[in-house]
Amino acid sequence: MPPPDRFTFSSATLTPPAGTVAEPAPAPLAPVTPAATPVIGPVPGASTSRRRRLALSIRLRLTLWNVAILTGVLLLFGVSVYAFFAISLNKEIDDALQQQYSQIRDGAGFYLAWDRTGGLRLFTDLRPDRFGSDQLDLFIQIASLEGRVPEGGRSSNLGELSLPISREVLTAVRDGRTVMEEVFVGGHPMRLYSGPFYLTGPGDRAPDIIGVIQVARSLERTEWTMTLLRLLLIGGGLTSLAVAAVVGLALSGAALRPLDRLTQAARAIGTARDFSRRVELPPVDDEVGQLARTFNEMLAQLQAAHNGLAASLDAQRRFVADASHELRTPLTTIRGNVGLLRRVTDVDPADRAAALADIDSEAERMSRLVNQLLSLARADSGATLKTQPLDLLPIIRDCGRQLALLAGSAELTSAVDLPGEPVRVQGDPDALRQLLLILIDNAVKYTPAPGAVRLKLDRDGATAVIQVADTGIGIAPEDQPRIFERFYRADPARSGNGAGLGLAIARRLVEAQQGWIEVESAPGQGSVFRVRLPLLPDA
Ligand code: ADP
Repeated sequence: MPPPDRFTFSSATLTPPAGTVAEPAPAPLAPVTPAATPVIGPVPGASTSRRRRLALSIRLRLTLWNVAILTGVLLLFGVSVYAFFAISLNKEIDDALQQQYSQIRDGAGFYLAWDRTGGLRLFTDLRPDRFGSDQLDLFIQIASLEGRVPEGGRSSNLGELSLPISREVLTAVRDGRTVMEEVFVGGHPMRLYSGPFYLTGPGDRAPDIIGVIQVARSLERTEWTMTLLRLLLIGGGLTSLAVAAVVGLALSGAALRPLDRLTQAARAIGTARDFSRRVELPPVDDEVGQLARTFNEMLAQLQAAHNGLAASLDAQRRFVADASHELRTPLTTIRGNVGLLRRVTDVDPADRAAALADIDSEAERMSRLVNQLLSLARADSGATLKTQPLDLLPIIRDCGRQLALLAGSAELTSAVDLPGEPVRVQGDPDALRQLLLILIDNAVKYTPAPGAVRLKLDRDGATAVIQVADTGIGIAPEDQPRIFERFYRADPARSGNGAGLGLAIARRLVEAQQGWIEVESAPGQGSVFRVRLPLLPDA
Protein backbone atom coordinates (compact mmCIF):
# COMPACT_ATOMS: atom_id res chain seq x y z
CA MET A 1 0.00 0.00 0.00
CA PRO A 2 1.46 3.42 -0.93
CA PRO A 3 1.99 5.78 1.97
CA PRO A 4 -0.96 8.13 2.25
CA ASP A 5 1.12 11.26 1.69
CA ARG A 6 2.97 10.09 -1.40
CA PHE A 7 1.41 10.24 -4.82
CA THR A 8 3.19 9.03 -7.91
CA PHE A 9 1.63 8.84 -11.35
CA SER A 10 3.13 7.40 -14.45
CA SER A 11 0.84 8.95 -17.01
CA ALA A 12 -0.28 12.50 -16.79
CA THR A 13 -3.07 14.01 -18.77
CA LEU A 14 -4.06 17.54 -18.17
CA THR A 15 -7.49 18.76 -18.84
CA PRO A 16 -7.14 21.97 -20.81
CA PRO A 17 -8.30 25.22 -19.27
CA ALA A 18 -11.89 26.31 -19.25
CA GLY A 19 -13.89 25.85 -22.36
CA THR A 20 -11.67 23.33 -24.16
CA VAL A 21 -13.06 20.16 -22.62
CA ALA A 22 -14.96 18.06 -25.12
CA GLU A 23 -18.40 18.88 -23.84
CA PRO A 24 -19.85 21.91 -25.59
CA ALA A 25 -21.11 24.56 -23.24
CA PRO A 26 -24.82 24.81 -23.80
CA ALA A 27 -25.95 28.33 -24.29
CA PRO A 28 -29.36 29.47 -23.19
CA LEU A 29 -31.62 29.33 -26.19
CA ALA A 30 -33.64 32.37 -26.95
CA PRO A 31 -36.48 31.97 -29.40
CA VAL A 32 -35.69 33.80 -32.55
CA THR A 33 -38.75 35.66 -33.71
CA PRO A 34 -38.87 38.20 -36.49
CA ALA A 35 -40.01 40.83 -34.02
CA ALA A 36 -36.96 40.26 -31.83
CA THR A 37 -34.53 40.45 -34.73
CA PRO A 38 -32.84 43.83 -34.81
CA VAL A 39 -33.22 45.47 -38.19
CA ILE A 40 -30.63 47.80 -39.60
CA GLY A 41 -32.11 50.53 -41.72
CA PRO A 42 -35.73 51.44 -42.33
CA VAL A 43 -38.54 49.68 -40.51
CA PRO A 44 -39.42 46.48 -42.39
CA GLY A 45 -42.60 46.59 -44.37
CA ALA A 46 -42.99 50.34 -44.10
CA SER A 47 -41.20 51.06 -47.31
CA THR A 48 -40.36 47.65 -48.74
CA SER A 49 -41.81 48.38 -52.15
CA ARG A 50 -40.04 51.71 -52.30
CA ARG A 51 -36.71 50.15 -51.36
CA ARG A 52 -37.21 47.39 -53.93
CA ARG A 53 -38.01 49.90 -56.63
CA LEU A 54 -34.95 51.95 -55.77
CA ALA A 55 -32.75 48.88 -55.65
CA LEU A 56 -33.96 47.77 -59.05
CA SER A 57 -33.41 51.09 -60.72
CA ILE A 58 -30.05 52.00 -59.27
CA ARG A 59 -28.35 51.41 -62.64
CA LEU A 60 -31.01 53.39 -64.46
CA ARG A 61 -30.92 56.12 -61.86
CA LEU A 62 -27.16 56.50 -62.19
CA THR A 63 -27.52 56.78 -65.96
CA LEU A 64 -30.43 59.20 -65.71
CA TRP A 65 -28.52 61.41 -63.32
CA ASN A 66 -25.57 61.30 -65.65
CA VAL A 67 -27.70 62.22 -68.67
CA ALA A 68 -29.59 64.92 -66.73
CA ILE A 69 -26.37 66.61 -65.62
CA LEU A 70 -24.92 66.33 -69.11
CA THR A 71 -28.15 67.78 -70.56
CA GLY A 72 -27.85 70.75 -68.24
CA VAL A 73 -24.21 71.32 -69.15
CA LEU A 74 -24.84 70.92 -72.88
CA LEU A 75 -27.85 73.22 -72.72
CA LEU A 76 -25.84 75.90 -70.99
CA PHE A 77 -22.99 75.44 -73.40
CA GLY A 78 -25.26 75.39 -76.48
CA VAL A 79 -27.22 78.46 -75.45
CA SER A 80 -24.01 80.35 -74.67
CA VAL A 81 -22.39 79.43 -77.97
CA TYR A 82 -25.55 80.23 -79.90
CA ALA A 83 -26.04 83.56 -78.15
CA PHE A 84 -22.39 84.47 -78.62
CA PHE A 85 -22.54 83.73 -82.35
CA ALA A 86 -25.86 85.50 -82.80
CA ILE A 87 -24.65 88.60 -81.00
CA SER A 88 -21.27 88.73 -82.70
CA LEU A 89 -22.70 88.09 -86.19
CA ASN A 90 -25.31 90.83 -85.71
CA LYS A 91 -22.69 93.16 -84.34
CA GLU A 92 -20.44 92.45 -87.28
CA ILE A 93 -23.27 93.30 -89.71
CA ASP A 94 -24.21 96.42 -87.77
CA ASP A 95 -20.60 97.60 -87.63
CA ALA A 96 -20.17 96.98 -91.35
CA LEU A 97 -23.39 98.85 -92.16
CA GLN A 98 -22.39 101.79 -90.03
CA GLN A 99 -18.96 101.85 -91.61
CA GLN A 100 -20.50 101.66 -95.04
CA TYR A 101 -22.90 104.48 -94.26
CA SER A 102 -20.04 106.68 -92.99
CA GLN A 103 -18.01 105.95 -96.10
CA ILE A 104 -20.88 106.88 -98.41
CA ARG A 105 -21.79 109.94 -96.39
CA ASP A 106 -18.25 111.27 -96.21
CA GLY A 107 -17.25 110.28 -99.73
CA ALA A 108 -19.99 112.08 -101.60
CA GLY A 109 -18.99 115.15 -103.59
CA PHE A 110 -21.28 118.07 -104.65
CA TYR A 111 -21.17 120.47 -107.50
CA LEU A 112 -23.34 123.24 -108.99
CA ALA A 113 -24.59 122.96 -112.53
CA TRP A 114 -27.31 124.36 -114.81
CA ASP A 115 -30.19 122.04 -115.36
CA ARG A 116 -32.11 121.63 -118.59
CA THR A 117 -34.35 124.56 -117.75
CA GLY A 118 -31.32 126.72 -117.31
CA GLY A 119 -31.54 127.03 -113.52
CA LEU A 120 -28.52 126.56 -111.28
CA ARG A 121 -28.81 123.38 -109.24
CA LEU A 122 -26.81 121.35 -106.76
CA PHE A 123 -25.77 117.92 -107.97
CA THR A 124 -23.98 115.06 -106.18
CA ASP A 125 -21.59 112.54 -107.64
CA LEU A 126 -22.93 109.84 -105.25
CA ARG A 127 -23.69 106.68 -107.24
CA PRO A 128 -25.12 103.82 -105.14
CA ASP A 129 -23.76 101.34 -107.64
CA ARG A 130 -20.28 102.36 -106.67
CA PHE A 131 -20.85 100.77 -103.28
CA GLY A 132 -23.62 98.21 -103.57
CA SER A 133 -22.66 94.76 -104.73
CA ASP A 134 -24.16 91.26 -104.76
CA GLN A 135 -20.90 89.81 -103.58
CA LEU A 136 -20.88 91.92 -100.45
CA ASP A 137 -24.61 91.45 -100.05
CA LEU A 138 -24.82 95.20 -99.76
CA PHE A 139 -27.75 97.31 -100.91
CA ILE A 140 -27.69 101.11 -101.07
CA GLN A 141 -30.47 103.62 -101.56
CA ILE A 142 -30.54 107.37 -101.46
CA ALA A 143 -33.75 109.26 -100.91
CA SER A 144 -34.92 112.79 -100.35
CA LEU A 145 -36.14 113.88 -96.93
CA GLU A 146 -39.66 113.22 -98.16
CA GLY A 147 -38.76 109.63 -98.98
CA ARG A 148 -38.55 110.02 -102.74
CA VAL A 149 -35.87 108.04 -104.46
CA PRO A 150 -34.35 109.82 -107.48
CA GLU A 151 -33.47 108.00 -110.62
CA GLY A 152 -30.24 106.03 -110.13
CA GLY A 153 -30.67 106.41 -106.38
CA ARG A 154 -30.67 102.66 -105.87
CA SER A 155 -27.88 100.18 -106.27
CA SER A 156 -28.75 98.06 -109.25
CA ASN A 157 -28.56 94.81 -107.26
CA LEU A 158 -31.90 95.85 -105.74
CA GLY A 159 -33.49 95.37 -109.18
CA GLU A 160 -37.14 96.39 -109.03
CA LEU A 161 -37.15 96.45 -105.26
CA SER A 162 -36.61 99.43 -103.06
CA LEU A 163 -35.62 99.75 -99.42
CA PRO A 164 -38.55 100.85 -97.26
CA ILE A 165 -38.50 104.27 -95.59
CA SER A 166 -41.01 104.70 -92.81
CA ARG A 167 -42.28 107.96 -91.49
CA GLU A 168 -40.44 107.39 -88.20
CA VAL A 169 -37.17 106.91 -90.05
CA LEU A 170 -37.66 110.16 -92.01
CA THR A 171 -38.44 112.02 -88.79
CA ALA A 172 -35.35 110.57 -87.10
CA VAL A 173 -33.12 111.40 -90.02
CA ARG A 174 -34.46 114.96 -90.17
CA ASP A 175 -33.46 115.19 -86.50
CA GLY A 176 -29.96 114.02 -87.43
CA ARG A 177 -30.35 110.55 -85.92
CA THR A 178 -29.61 107.17 -87.46
CA VAL A 179 -31.93 104.15 -87.30
CA MET A 180 -31.06 100.44 -87.38
CA GLU A 181 -33.97 98.10 -88.16
CA GLU A 182 -34.82 94.71 -89.50
CA VAL A 183 -37.04 94.67 -92.57
CA PHE A 184 -38.26 92.36 -95.28
CA VAL A 185 -37.49 93.33 -98.81
CA GLY A 186 -39.10 91.18 -101.46
CA GLY A 187 -39.53 88.46 -98.84
CA HIS A 188 -35.86 88.57 -97.84
CA PRO A 189 -34.91 89.52 -94.27
CA MET A 190 -32.52 92.45 -94.19
CA ARG A 191 -30.74 94.66 -91.70
CA LEU A 192 -31.32 98.26 -92.72
CA TYR A 193 -29.40 101.29 -91.52
CA SER A 194 -30.71 104.74 -92.38
CA GLY A 195 -28.92 107.98 -91.68
CA PRO A 196 -28.78 111.62 -92.81
CA PHE A 197 -27.08 112.82 -95.99
CA TYR A 198 -25.29 116.12 -95.27
CA LEU A 199 -24.34 119.09 -97.33
CA THR A 200 -21.54 120.91 -95.58
CA GLY A 201 -21.59 124.66 -96.23
CA PRO A 202 -18.62 127.01 -96.28
CA GLY A 203 -17.19 128.41 -93.04
CA ASP A 204 -18.67 127.54 -89.67
CA ARG A 205 -22.13 126.87 -91.01
CA ALA A 206 -23.70 123.72 -89.62
CA PRO A 207 -24.14 121.05 -92.31
CA ASP A 208 -27.58 120.75 -93.82
CA ILE A 209 -29.44 117.48 -93.96
CA ILE A 210 -30.51 117.12 -97.55
CA GLY A 211 -31.47 113.42 -97.80
CA VAL A 212 -31.39 109.92 -96.47
CA ILE A 213 -28.66 107.34 -97.04
CA GLN A 214 -29.84 103.77 -96.53
CA VAL A 215 -27.52 100.81 -96.43
CA ALA A 216 -28.85 97.24 -96.04
CA ARG A 217 -27.49 93.75 -95.86
CA SER A 218 -29.32 90.54 -96.39
CA LEU A 219 -29.62 88.42 -93.27
CA GLU A 220 -30.08 85.20 -95.22
CA ARG A 221 -26.47 84.12 -94.93
CA THR A 222 -26.41 84.87 -91.22
CA GLU A 223 -29.66 83.06 -90.69
CA TRP A 224 -28.38 80.13 -92.61
CA THR A 225 -25.22 80.10 -90.49
CA MET A 226 -27.31 80.28 -87.33
CA THR A 227 -29.58 77.48 -88.56
CA LEU A 228 -26.53 75.36 -89.27
CA LEU A 229 -25.12 76.17 -85.85
CA ARG A 230 -28.45 75.31 -84.26
CA LEU A 231 -28.56 72.00 -86.10
CA LEU A 232 -24.97 71.27 -85.13
CA LEU A 233 -25.56 72.08 -81.50
CA ILE A 234 -28.81 70.12 -81.23
CA GLY A 235 -27.50 67.18 -83.26
CA GLY A 236 -24.18 67.11 -81.41
CA GLY A 237 -25.93 67.49 -78.06
CA LEU A 238 -28.42 64.72 -78.74
CA THR A 239 -25.67 62.43 -80.02
CA SER A 240 -23.55 63.16 -76.92
CA LEU A 241 -26.55 62.44 -74.69
CA ALA A 242 -27.30 59.19 -76.48
CA VAL A 243 -23.65 58.12 -76.26
CA ALA A 244 -23.53 59.16 -72.60
CA ALA A 245 -26.71 57.19 -71.85
CA VAL A 246 -25.49 54.04 -73.60
CA VAL A 247 -21.96 54.23 -72.19
CA GLY A 248 -23.31 55.19 -68.74
CA LEU A 249 -25.71 52.27 -68.78
CA ALA A 250 -22.97 49.90 -69.85
CA LEU A 251 -20.47 51.29 -67.33
CA SER A 252 -22.89 51.29 -64.40
CA GLY A 253 -23.94 47.79 -65.43
CA ALA A 254 -20.31 46.68 -65.37
CA ALA A 255 -19.72 48.44 -62.05
CA LEU A 256 -22.81 46.90 -60.49
CA ARG A 257 -22.29 43.40 -61.88
CA PRO A 258 -20.09 42.30 -58.95
CA LEU A 259 -22.81 43.57 -56.62
CA ASP A 260 -25.31 41.52 -58.55
CA ARG A 261 -23.13 38.45 -58.20
CA LEU A 262 -22.79 39.19 -54.49
CA THR A 263 -26.57 39.42 -54.13
CA GLN A 264 -27.07 36.15 -55.96
CA ALA A 265 -24.41 34.42 -53.86
CA ALA A 266 -25.96 35.80 -50.67
CA ARG A 267 -29.39 34.65 -51.79
CA ALA A 268 -28.10 31.18 -52.62
CA ILE A 269 -26.38 30.94 -49.24
CA GLY A 270 -29.53 32.12 -47.49
CA THR A 271 -31.72 29.63 -49.37
CA ALA A 272 -29.41 26.70 -48.75
CA ARG A 273 -28.64 27.90 -45.18
CA ASP A 274 -25.10 26.86 -45.93
CA PHE A 275 -22.97 29.33 -43.98
CA SER A 276 -19.79 27.46 -44.82
CA ARG A 277 -19.91 28.88 -48.35
CA ARG A 278 -18.11 32.10 -49.20
CA VAL A 279 -18.69 34.63 -51.94
CA GLU A 280 -15.98 34.98 -54.53
CA LEU A 281 -13.74 37.99 -53.93
CA PRO A 282 -13.37 40.28 -56.94
CA PRO A 283 -9.78 40.67 -58.19
CA VAL A 284 -9.61 44.33 -57.12
CA ASP A 285 -10.03 45.35 -53.51
CA ASP A 286 -12.36 48.25 -54.27
CA GLU A 287 -15.61 49.09 -52.49
CA VAL A 288 -17.28 45.95 -53.86
CA GLY A 289 -14.24 43.89 -52.86
CA GLN A 290 -14.45 45.27 -49.34
CA LEU A 291 -18.16 44.54 -49.25
CA ALA A 292 -17.52 40.95 -50.35
CA ARG A 293 -14.78 40.58 -47.72
CA THR A 294 -17.02 42.01 -44.99
CA PHE A 295 -19.80 39.72 -46.14
CA ASN A 296 -17.48 36.71 -45.89
CA GLU A 297 -16.42 37.78 -42.40
CA MET A 298 -20.04 38.06 -41.42
CA LEU A 299 -20.68 34.60 -42.89
CA ALA A 300 -17.82 33.20 -40.78
CA GLN A 301 -19.38 34.71 -37.66
CA LEU A 302 -22.79 33.44 -38.69
CA GLN A 303 -21.34 30.00 -39.22
CA ALA A 304 -19.70 30.04 -35.80
CA ALA A 305 -22.93 31.22 -34.18
CA HIS A 306 -24.93 28.68 -36.12
CA ASN A 307 -22.57 25.84 -35.18
CA GLY A 308 -22.54 26.96 -31.56
CA LEU A 309 -26.31 27.05 -31.53
CA ALA A 310 -26.57 23.65 -33.18
CA ALA A 311 -24.04 22.18 -30.73
CA SER A 312 -25.77 23.65 -27.73
CA LEU A 313 -29.15 22.48 -29.03
CA ASP A 314 -27.68 19.05 -29.45
CA ALA A 315 -26.17 19.12 -25.97
CA GLN A 316 -29.47 20.31 -24.55
CA ARG A 317 -31.30 17.47 -26.28
CA ARG A 318 -28.81 14.91 -24.99
CA PHE A 319 -29.03 16.42 -21.55
CA VAL A 320 -32.81 16.15 -21.45
CA ALA A 321 -32.68 12.58 -22.76
CA ASP A 322 -30.01 11.57 -20.24
CA ALA A 323 -31.81 13.31 -17.38
CA SER A 324 -35.07 11.54 -18.22
CA HIS A 325 -33.25 8.26 -18.43
CA GLU A 326 -31.52 8.80 -15.07
CA LEU A 327 -34.80 9.73 -13.41
CA ARG A 328 -36.67 6.81 -14.91
CA THR A 329 -34.43 4.15 -13.35
CA PRO A 330 -35.10 5.04 -9.68
CA LEU A 331 -38.76 5.72 -10.48
CA THR A 332 -39.12 2.23 -11.95
CA THR A 333 -37.56 0.69 -8.84
CA ILE A 334 -39.80 2.75 -6.51
CA ARG A 335 -42.97 1.91 -8.47
CA GLY A 336 -42.01 -1.76 -8.63
CA ASN A 337 -41.51 -1.96 -4.88
CA VAL A 338 -44.68 0.04 -4.10
CA GLY A 339 -46.65 -2.23 -6.45
CA LEU A 340 -45.24 -5.31 -4.79
CA LEU A 341 -46.13 -4.04 -1.29
CA ARG A 342 -49.62 -3.19 -2.45
CA ARG A 343 -50.31 -6.45 -4.29
CA VAL A 344 -48.86 -8.91 -1.85
CA THR A 345 -50.46 -8.58 1.55
CA ASP A 346 -48.53 -11.18 3.48
CA VAL A 347 -45.01 -10.00 2.63
CA ASP A 348 -42.25 -11.40 4.72
CA PRO A 349 -41.12 -8.65 7.19
CA ALA A 350 -37.52 -8.98 5.93
CA ASP A 351 -38.63 -8.51 2.28
CA ARG A 352 -40.85 -5.60 3.29
CA ALA A 353 -37.89 -3.92 5.04
CA ALA A 354 -35.68 -4.54 1.98
CA ALA A 355 -38.34 -3.06 -0.36
CA LEU A 356 -38.75 0.02 1.84
CA ALA A 357 -34.98 0.45 2.05
CA ASP A 358 -34.87 0.27 -1.77
CA ILE A 359 -37.60 2.89 -2.06
CA ASP A 360 -35.76 5.07 0.44
CA SER A 361 -32.39 4.88 -1.28
CA GLU A 362 -33.87 5.38 -4.77
CA ALA A 363 -35.88 8.35 -3.57
CA GLU A 364 -32.70 9.78 -2.07
CA ARG A 365 -30.85 9.17 -5.34
CA MET A 366 -33.63 10.92 -7.20
CA SER A 367 -33.61 13.92 -4.95
CA ARG A 368 -29.81 14.16 -5.25
CA LEU A 369 -30.14 13.96 -9.02
CA VAL A 370 -32.85 16.59 -9.08
CA ASN A 371 -30.65 18.86 -6.94
CA GLN A 372 -27.73 18.36 -9.28
CA LEU A 373 -29.92 19.03 -12.32
CA LEU A 374 -31.14 22.19 -10.66
CA SER A 375 -27.55 23.30 -10.01
CA LEU A 376 -26.68 22.74 -13.65
CA ALA A 377 -29.83 24.41 -14.94
CA ARG A 378 -29.05 27.41 -12.75
CA ALA A 379 -25.51 27.56 -14.11
CA ASP A 380 -26.81 27.20 -17.69
CA SER A 381 -29.38 29.93 -17.28
CA GLY A 382 -26.49 32.29 -16.75
CA ALA A 383 -27.24 32.93 -13.07
CA THR A 384 -24.04 34.57 -11.96
CA LEU A 385 -22.30 33.68 -8.75
CA LYS A 386 -21.95 36.29 -6.04
CA THR A 387 -18.19 36.49 -6.03
CA GLN A 388 -16.22 38.53 -3.51
CA PRO A 389 -12.61 38.89 -2.51
CA LEU A 390 -11.96 36.09 0.00
CA ASP A 391 -9.28 34.07 1.69
CA LEU A 392 -9.29 30.41 0.65
CA LEU A 393 -7.67 29.19 3.91
CA PRO A 394 -10.82 28.99 6.09
CA ILE A 395 -12.84 27.38 3.28
CA ILE A 396 -10.23 24.69 2.66
CA ARG A 397 -9.93 24.14 6.41
CA ASP A 398 -13.73 23.60 6.55
CA CYS A 399 -13.63 21.19 3.64
CA GLY A 400 -10.71 19.42 5.32
CA ARG A 401 -12.97 18.66 8.28
CA GLN A 402 -15.62 17.21 5.95
CA LEU A 403 -12.91 15.17 4.25
CA ALA A 404 -11.76 13.80 7.61
CA LEU A 405 -15.33 12.70 8.43
CA LEU A 406 -15.96 11.08 5.02
CA ALA A 407 -12.53 9.45 4.85
CA GLY A 408 -12.90 8.19 8.42
CA SER A 409 -16.16 6.41 7.66
CA ALA A 410 -14.59 4.89 4.50
CA GLU A 411 -11.58 3.74 6.49
CA LEU A 412 -9.20 6.02 4.53
CA THR A 413 -6.52 8.30 5.80
CA SER A 414 -6.73 11.98 5.00
CA ALA A 415 -4.47 15.00 5.13
CA VAL A 416 -4.88 18.75 4.66
CA ASP A 417 -1.90 20.81 3.56
CA LEU A 418 -2.27 24.58 3.97
CA PRO A 419 0.16 27.46 3.37
CA GLY A 420 1.15 29.84 6.17
CA GLU A 421 -0.30 33.04 4.72
CA PRO A 422 -3.75 33.83 3.28
CA VAL A 423 -4.52 32.95 -0.33
CA ARG A 424 -6.85 35.59 -1.67
CA VAL A 425 -9.05 35.11 -4.71
CA GLN A 426 -12.28 36.53 -6.13
CA GLY A 427 -14.81 33.80 -5.47
CA ASP A 428 -18.16 32.65 -4.13
CA PRO A 429 -17.63 30.77 -0.82
CA ASP A 430 -20.74 28.54 -1.25
CA ALA A 431 -19.79 27.61 -4.81
CA LEU A 432 -16.21 26.87 -3.71
CA ARG A 433 -17.45 24.59 -0.89
CA GLN A 434 -19.88 22.82 -3.25
CA LEU A 435 -17.24 22.12 -5.88
CA LEU A 436 -14.63 20.97 -3.34
CA LEU A 437 -17.17 18.63 -1.76
CA ILE A 438 -17.83 17.10 -5.18
CA LEU A 439 -14.08 16.46 -5.62
CA ILE A 440 -13.68 15.16 -2.04
CA ASP A 441 -16.76 12.98 -2.39
CA ASN A 442 -15.41 11.49 -5.62
CA ALA A 443 -11.93 10.97 -4.15
CA VAL A 444 -13.39 9.05 -1.18
CA LYS A 445 -15.87 7.19 -3.44
CA TYR A 446 -13.24 6.00 -5.90
CA THR A 447 -10.54 5.13 -3.36
CA PRO A 448 -10.85 1.69 -1.89
CA ALA A 449 -9.54 1.13 1.65
CA PRO A 450 -6.82 1.20 2.66
CA GLY A 451 -6.03 4.44 0.82
CA ALA A 452 -5.51 8.14 1.31
CA VAL A 453 -7.07 11.39 0.24
CA ARG A 454 -5.19 14.62 0.54
CA LEU A 455 -6.42 18.20 0.26
CA LYS A 456 -3.82 20.85 -0.47
CA LEU A 457 -3.83 24.61 -1.02
CA ASP A 458 -0.90 26.22 -2.79
CA ARG A 459 0.17 29.07 -5.05
CA ASP A 460 1.54 28.70 -8.53
CA GLY A 461 2.59 32.01 -10.03
CA ALA A 462 -0.52 34.19 -10.28
CA THR A 463 -2.95 31.37 -9.50
CA ALA A 464 -4.16 29.66 -6.35
CA VAL A 465 -4.16 25.87 -6.71
CA ILE A 466 -6.52 23.67 -4.71
CA GLN A 467 -5.56 20.05 -5.09
CA VAL A 468 -7.64 16.96 -4.20
CA ALA A 469 -5.47 13.87 -4.57
CA ASP A 470 -6.33 10.27 -3.90
CA THR A 471 -4.66 6.91 -4.17
CA GLY A 472 -7.77 5.33 -5.68
CA ILE A 473 -8.65 3.50 -8.86
CA GLY A 474 -7.51 6.29 -11.20
CA ILE A 475 -8.99 7.20 -14.56
CA ALA A 476 -8.00 5.72 -17.92
CA PRO A 477 -6.29 8.28 -20.21
CA GLU A 478 -9.09 7.97 -22.81
CA ASP A 479 -11.71 8.80 -20.16
CA GLN A 480 -9.89 11.77 -18.69
CA PRO A 481 -11.00 14.36 -21.28
CA ARG A 482 -14.62 13.23 -20.98
CA ILE A 483 -15.23 12.97 -17.25
CA PHE A 484 -16.32 16.62 -17.11
CA GLU A 485 -19.14 15.95 -19.55
CA ARG A 486 -22.65 15.64 -18.23
CA PHE A 487 -23.75 12.12 -17.40
CA TYR A 488 -20.35 10.72 -18.29
CA ARG A 489 -19.21 7.91 -16.04
CA ALA A 490 -15.85 6.34 -16.71
CA ASP A 491 -16.85 3.12 -15.05
CA PRO A 492 -20.61 3.01 -14.41
CA ALA A 493 -20.29 -0.23 -12.45
CA ARG A 494 -18.07 1.46 -9.88
CA SER A 495 -19.70 4.88 -9.67
CA GLY A 496 -22.63 3.46 -7.72
CA ASN A 497 -25.29 6.10 -7.17
CA GLY A 498 -23.47 8.79 -9.12
CA ALA A 499 -25.16 10.05 -12.26
CA GLY A 500 -22.04 11.57 -13.80
CA LEU A 501 -23.07 15.16 -13.08
CA GLY A 502 -20.70 16.04 -10.21
CA LEU A 503 -17.65 17.01 -12.29
CA ALA A 504 -19.82 18.81 -14.85
CA ILE A 505 -21.21 20.97 -12.04
CA ALA A 506 -17.69 21.43 -10.59
CA ARG A 507 -16.38 22.64 -13.92
CA ARG A 508 -19.23 25.12 -14.40
CA LEU A 509 -18.66 26.50 -10.89
CA VAL A 510 -14.91 26.91 -11.43
CA GLU A 511 -15.39 28.61 -14.78
CA ALA A 512 -17.94 30.98 -13.31
CA GLN A 513 -15.12 32.13 -10.98
CA GLN A 514 -12.71 32.68 -13.89
CA GLY A 515 -10.75 29.56 -13.02
CA TRP A 516 -10.27 26.15 -14.57
CA ILE A 517 -10.07 22.55 -13.46
CA GLU A 518 -7.66 19.84 -14.60
CA VAL A 519 -7.04 16.20 -13.83
CA GLU A 520 -3.92 14.10 -13.66
CA SER A 521 -4.42 10.42 -13.14
CA ALA A 522 -3.02 6.96 -13.64
CA PRO A 523 -5.28 3.90 -13.53
CA GLY A 524 -4.69 1.85 -10.39
CA GLN A 525 -2.56 4.52 -8.76
CA GLY A 526 -4.85 7.45 -8.08
CA SER A 527 -5.98 10.83 -9.33
CA VAL A 528 -5.23 14.47 -8.67
CA PHE A 529 -7.87 17.13 -9.41
CA ARG A 530 -6.54 20.69 -9.47
CA VAL A 531 -8.69 23.77 -9.31
CA ARG A 532 -6.87 26.92 -10.39
CA LEU A 533 -8.20 30.37 -9.56
CA PRO A 534 -6.56 33.72 -10.37
CA LEU A 535 -4.95 35.22 -7.25
CA LEU A 536 -5.97 38.69 -6.21
CA PRO A 537 -3.04 41.10 -6.25
CA ASP A 538 -1.77 41.65 -2.68
CA ALA A 539 -3.24 44.79 -1.23
P1 ADP B 1 -20.32 10.58 -10.54
O1 ADP B 1 -21.51 11.15 -9.91
O2 ADP B 1 -20.56 9.39 -11.37
O3 ADP B 1 -19.17 10.45 -9.64
P2 ADP B 1 -18.81 12.71 -11.67
O4 ADP B 1 -19.13 13.66 -12.71
O5 ADP B 1 -18.49 13.24 -10.33
O6 ADP B 1 -19.95 11.67 -11.63
O7 ADP B 1 -17.59 11.86 -12.19
C1 ADP B 1 -17.58 11.38 -13.51
C2 ADP B 1 -16.75 10.14 -13.61
O8 ADP B 1 -15.35 10.43 -13.39
C3 ADP B 1 -17.10 9.15 -12.58
O9 ADP B 1 -18.11 8.28 -13.01
C4 ADP B 1 -15.80 8.37 -12.43
O10 ADP B 1 -15.71 7.34 -13.36
C5 ADP B 1 -14.74 9.41 -12.74
N1 ADP B 1 -14.11 9.95 -11.49
C6 ADP B 1 -14.39 11.11 -10.90
N2 ADP B 1 -13.58 11.33 -9.84
C7 ADP B 1 -12.76 10.29 -9.80
C8 ADP B 1 -11.69 9.90 -8.89
N3 ADP B 1 -11.30 10.69 -7.89
N4 ADP B 1 -11.06 8.72 -9.13
C9 ADP B 1 -11.44 7.94 -10.17
N5 ADP B 1 -12.44 8.24 -11.03
C10 ADP B 1 -13.09 9.39 -10.83
